[in-house]
Amino acid sequence: MSTAPVLQIAPRLVGPRLEVDLGAVAANTRFLAGRATGDLMAVVKADGFGHGAVEVARTALGHGASWLGVATIPEALQLRAAGLTAPVLSWLNPLDADWSRAVGAEVDLAVSSREQLDAVLGCTIGARVHLRLDTGMARDGAAPSEWAALCRVARAAERAGRVRVVGMMGHLPCADEPAHPANGLGRTRFAWGLMTARAAGLRPHARHLAATSATVLDPLSHHTMSRVGAGLVGIDPSRRLPAGTLRGALRLTAPLVEVRTVRAGTSVGYGHTWTAARTTRLGLVPLGYADGLPRLASAGAEVGVAGSRCAVAGRISMDMTVVDLGSTSAQVGDEVVLIGHGDGEPTVREWADWSGLLEHEVLTGLGRARVTRMVARRADVRSLS
Ligand SMILES: *Cc1c(COP(=O)(O)O)cnc(C)c1O
Repeated sequence: MSTAPVLQIAPRLVGPRLEVDLGAVAANTRFLAGRATGDLMAVVKADGFGHGAVEVARTALGHGASWLGVATIPEALQLRAAGLTAPVLSWLNPLDADWSRAVGAEVDLAVSSREQLDAVLGCTIGARVHLRLDTGMARDGAAPSEWAALCRVARAAERAGRVRVVGMMGHLPCADEPAHPANGLGRTRFAWGLMTARAAGLRPHARHLAATSATVLDPLSHHTMSRVGAGLVGIDPSRRLPAGTLRGALRLTAPLVEVRTVRAGTSVGYGHTWTAARTTRLGLVPLGYADGLPRLASAGAEVGVAGSRCAVAGRISMDMTVVDLGSTSAQVGDEVVLIGHGDGEPTVREWADWSGLLEHEVLTGLGRARVTRMVARRADVRSLS
């Protein structure tokens, strides 16, 4: 749960710190809202991609988003508990989910099958549902062969006053590759699904297919709303936007806790995978893979120290990482930037490339237990004034 203290002035570092820049989230939201031809849903699942669901949601709502989206009902209830009153959609729940609590909290529910519809109808009256069609993922949503029947049953329940079908949703598997044939097929299937739903008597007013990539690249997919998650926190999944269009919102820093001088030929860390080529100074950073630094990045990774780049020396271990301080004059207590916003600081995209992970994986894996989370609102205030 997000109870991050508000960062006023940078205090002297006392330990690893993860800072979220809501000004970047605000700017990203404004950019995406400008690209979307319809409404904007801010997707804040997985704790807002590791940035704090409530803070990201509140910021996005203040800068152009009008809906919130999450995977699970508990995630939706967290937003309601924080006092957010915007429409919230939850789209991934087991059959025995707490549907009645969700409906009581005015959470919209995605429904993919007759079983799910029956489960919702079994314990609620008047739920607002979004029927979900598989538009090419073969992952979630009703198969086209089951769609017409799902629409008919939903319409019958609607006529009986038991449910309200307010929306329809799909998801595109290859939207980050604009030339991929799955995009046209997905759009066609969504249009067919809508016709079928209307033929059954349904009038879903919220119709949404596009996530971040399609919001940016494929206006034909926008319908009445776009659901964006990655873009809010600065990820451009298609890597087609000019650098800096979307801003990274997270900064991960830690102080050096030890510094030592080693001679050429000294090998470092588990497996001795790195050996000093010259006499150098090594710094110890108190963050490791248990805090979300991808171990697979060990060989290529760099960190920022006093405006310079320093290579990671040897394997990232569970709790700590050694860096080659080279010619810097860094001392114990000085700040190391593991992830920054650019300007020479290592970015999330670089960590993803060094490790072979997605940027999403890097961000959602970052520290919970041992990292102080701070939310910086200064940039947000500046952007509002
Ligand atoms: C995660 C998710 C999104 C957001 O996708 P991004 O590419 O992160 O914008 C949208 N819709 C659904 C169903 C999702 O699961």
